[in-house]
Amino acid sequence: MFPIKTFVSERRAANLLEQVRWRDGVYCPRCRGESMIRYGSYRVFQRYLCKDCDRTFNDQTGTIFEHSAVELKKWFLAVYMYIRFNTSVRLLDVEIDVSYKTSTDASSASYERWTRLDSISKVLLRSTNST
Ligand SMILES: [Zn+2]
Repeated sequence: MFPIKTFVSERRAANLLEQVRWRDGVYCPRCRGESMIRYGSYRVFQRYLCKDCDRTFNDQTGTIFEHSAVELKKWFLAVYMYIRFNTSVRLLDVEIDVSYKTSTDASSASYERWTRLDSISKVLLRSTNST
């Protein structure tokens, strides 16, 4: 299961995302190039500079978490509750304060996000169980 510290520390959550996302190696989400250098950080996330397309990305780029105003640790807590306690999506929205207060997040977008979150959570679970 998830280490409990994942839910209280944004840095820990970022570490988990980094491990899970790049378990087959880091690649550029824009051009799929595989040669990059570490290039500082974006908030708590590792940032990279792609040597192929010369653009930067970070651990969140291209994930459903990228443009979320909600902290990653809250997403992970939601994923945990979703799996562990079978909490409904609607309830989760309220719990983590996601969609109904943000104008850009219509409930269909929210549903879409949760659907994708469901598949991500399976990947997360698999990887945290195996380590
Ligand atoms: Zn690239």
